[in-house]
Amino acid sequence: MSAHSDEGVVDPWDIPGQGSAADVLRRAAVNGEVGHAWAFLGPPGVGQEQAARALTATLVCRADARPCGTCDVCRRSLRGTHPAYLEFVPTGAVHRVSDVRERWLRIAAHSAGEGGWKVLRIVDAERMNDAAANAFLKGLEEPPPGTVWILDVADPEDLPDTILSRCRAVRFAPLDQSTLDAEARRAGIEDPVERALAVRVSLGAASRLRTLAEDGVEDVRAHREIPRRLTDQGFALVAAKRIEEEVTRRTATVKEEGKAAKEALSEGYGEAPPRAVLRELEERNVRKEREARTVVVQQALDDIACWYRDALLVGRGADDAALVHGDDIEALRDTARSTGPATLLRALDLVMATRASLERNVQPRLALEALFLDLSALSLAR
Ligand SMILES: [Zn+2]
Repeated sequence: MSAHSDEGVVDPWDIPGQGSAADVLRRAAVNGEVGHAWAFLGPPGVGQEQAARALTATLVCRADARPCGTCDVCRRSLRGTHPAYLEFVPTGAVHRVSDVRERWLRIAAHSAGEGGWKVLRIVDAERMNDAAANAFLKGLEEPPPGTVWILDVADPEDLPDTILSRCRAVRFAPLDQSTLDAEARRAGIEDPVERALAVRVSLGAASRLRTLAEDGVEDVRAHREIPRRLTDQGFALVAAKRIEEEVTRRTATVKEEGKAAKEALSEGYGEAPPRAVLRELEERNVRKEREARTVVVQQALDDIACWYRDALLVGRGADDAALVHGDDIEALRDTARSTGPATLLRALDLVMATRASLERNVQPRLALEALFLDLSALSLAR
């Protein structure tokens, strides 16, 4: 069940559901009007990553028709491992001023990367706190040549106007059901039942859909079983352990990519790479692995949260179409019958609180064990 195969050339700018955003960006890059800052406005995970990476490929690819999509530069750009492209993900609940000063601005000030460009994407840009936003604004006012900032912004209200007004805005539309279904099909989910489940649990994020295509929906089915099996208190620790195993399994690729990037770096220098460069890459690998681990745990928690939410809705006689796990309606009815709305709400709160705490450097295994023990106590006391 592999995603985009190697057959045929994939156009990096073919971004499902985002034709107009892709057009604007591609034209700007090709015409040399890329500017120095963009705000990608829209819900997370609907193609911003692909667009930022396609922009990088268009700027740094050396083929006549850029981006060719097949050369080494393009492939690395599109995987996000080309040195001209960097992503900054919040390391805690917010982007901190130390991140801005010690990483973002410092990296922007370095001599430009390969091809003279540096594309720096700030994920969840509205999560800069005030100090971070002020520090970043200074950098934005004096952009080093060849630097292109990309700010992913879900809610522009949360970002100072002084920053937004210096960015060219491009809108990323929410993806509708038929786009998501087509994307799931394209990603290789053949079975219609699995595809429908994948579309529903993706909650509109194409990025999750692609992960589901690669990893399968079995993990989702395992996640939604957890609430039911927690009536057996012994299952709490088992469930936490299983998610940890899933994390190891599903982040193996990120680990390998990090190793490969390190090898490529050594080869590139012919001898030992400068220590600062090596350290930067190692830090980047550690961060990427941590981000990947967090994403897997958060997705598991989203699946569980949706289960409780669905059970609440079923208890209120909601329409099946509103349910994420609607294909398992009998089990949802069971849960709704055996667990009252107050307990379901409490369970939902506990899951969401744990999800939020994971953004603040909590040990996932311990957090999950605590959560599942709490949920188990709830279902025993119902
Ligand atoms: Zn190329």
